[in-house]
Formats: sequence, C-alpha cells, structure tokens
Amino acid sequence: MILIDGKKAAAELREELKHEVTGLKAKYNKVPGLTVILIGDLTPSQIYVRNKEKSANEVGLKSEVIKYPDSIEEKKVLEKIEELNKDETVSGILVQLPLPKHIDKQKVIETILPSKDVDGFHPMNVGNLSSGYESSVPCTPLGCYLLIKKVEPNLNGKKAVIVGRSNLNGKPMTQLLLKENCTVTITHSKTKDLKAECLEADIIIAAVGIPELVRGDWVKKDTIVIDVGINKTDNGIVGDVHFDEVSKNAKALTPVPGGVGPMTIACLLKNTIDCFKRSLS
Ligand code: NAD
Repeated sequence: MILIDGKKAAAELREELKHEVTGLKAKYNKVPGLTVILIGDLTPSQIYVRNKEKSANEVGLKSEVIKYPDSIEEKKVLEKIEELNKDETVSGILVQLPLPKHIDKQKVIETILPSKDVDGFHPMNVGNLSSGYESSVPCTPLGCYLLIKKVEPNLNGKKAVIVGRSNLNGKPMTQLLLKENCTVTITHSKTKDLKAECLEADIIIAAVGIPELVRGDWVKKDTIVIDVGINKTDNGIVGDVHFDEVSKNAKALTPVPGGVGPMTIACLLKNTIDCFKRSLS
C-alpha cells in the first residue's frame, strides 16, 4: 500500500512556490500578498490562521492577519473587505470561517472580489469551476486532487466516489475529477447503500466528518482513498476512513493527520500566487 505523504507533498509544493515567488519578485519587483481576516478567538481558527501566516512567510508572500473581536459589526468587516479589494498589494483575501452568528457568511464571501477569492467560495468562482473555466479552486479539494494525481497521473475513465456533498469539499471535488474524465458519483447522508457505492470505486474521497465511517470491506483492491476528515475522538484525531482496515485493502491512502491537511495550506499559497499572476495579465 502506498501511504500518501501529504506533509512531504506540501513541502515540495511550498518549495516550488518559493522559487516561483522569487522569480516573480525579480521580474515585477513585487510579491503576491495574502490578507487573512480572523474574527473572534476560536482556538482552531487561531491555529489555522497562524499556520497559514507561517507558511505564507516561508514561501516569501507578503502576509497580513487582521484580527477583530467577536463583537465586530458586519458592516465594519464588509468595509474592510472593500478596502482590501482596492488595495493593489493584496492579491488574495481570506476570511477565516466559521463566523460569529450575527455576520452573514454569504454576504462576506460575495463581497470579496472573485479575482482575490483565494478560498474559491465566491459564486463566480464556483460557477467558473463547474463550467470548466479558469477559477480559484477551494484549497482542500485542490490539495486532494494534487495528491491523487501524484499516485495516478491518468484518471481517464476512473470511477470516483465522493462521500459528502459540501460546498467546501464534495462539490468542488466532483468538478475537478469530471475535468479529468472520471465518472463521478457523489454520495451523502441520504445515499441508500454507501458501502455498495464505495465498492465500485477506483478512487474514494471521504469528506463527511464521521470518524472511521469508511471500513476495510468497503474498499476494493487498487482503490486510491483520500481521507479529508478531521475528527476529534477520545483516541485523538482520526479521519473519516478506518485507517488500519482500509490500509490492508487500498492501493493508496492518506493518513490523518499528515495527509490532506498540510496540502490545504500549501494550496492556499498556490491560489494566492495564481491570483497575483492573473492580476498581471
Ligand atoms: P459538512 O458537514 O459540510 O458536510 C458533510 C457531508 O457529509 C454532507 O454533505 C452530508 O450529506 C454527508 N454525510 C453526513 N453523514 C453521512 C453519511 N452517514 N453517509 C454519507 N454522507 C454523509 O462537512 P465538510 O465541511 O465537508 O467537512 C467534512 C470533514 O472534512 C470534517 O471532518 C472536516 O473537519 C474535514 N475537513 C478537513 C479539511 C482538511 O484540510 N483536511 C478541510 C475542511 C474540512
């Protein structure tokens, strides 16, 4: 079984991006800039943002974190986004989710200029992705896609089963795999026989949020299994895939932690650089 090393793949991607940023700086005398807005003091969000900032600095991006208390008015956040939209030194804007209840997530997402939407959540980017046009792609599915391609560069005709239909993971993943000529089945909480669907798959992407849902006897030999889940349990962090069981059957599997997670952040940096490059043309 191939253990798909997301940490290593992310380090390699960061190294490539670092070279790219050096080249861009030499050519244009400026570097891509990422601004993250963090609202409130949720510990996981603070950790994510700290890691994003550290990685952005590591590859040479200009990075800034704007912190607001939980009580910040929605209007103030929207005004700040408008200001960042106009700021030429800012290539990408990310508002860390989740947001406090009084702030409308969709309004925030739609205020970010699509050309600076490094999360790929703006309806314009969602539409462009599903139409097969150039767009920002949500970081986690993009990371999954790059990991799959490392194991299997030619996905033509492969049967992919995606478990979970979220806007964040399952739906954009579908579009990325369709573009690669996979036959894609998207499953969800109302799917009648999830095991039977998974048993048909050459590629399984589990993005559900249920600890160890995908079992060993759901996976046929030669299947590539990507585990997006991050679930806190009494036994520590586990994915949506039963690692021990599935590793006995699968062709390749991502561990949790150390699989998809590190790629998510590296892809955020990639998206920031891509937004910068598009802004030059
Ligand atoms: P979500 O809650 O938005 O969506 C979950 C999806 O799973 C839904 O579409 C639902 O229909 C489906 N589902 C629920 N129960 C099911 C069942 N029994 N069978 C089949 N489908 C079922 O979740 P999300 O935001 O997509 O996140 C999914 C998981 O991925 C979570 O554990 C989250 O922490 C993790 N995550 C990881 C990363 C990363 O960087 N590794 C990033 C984002 C999310």
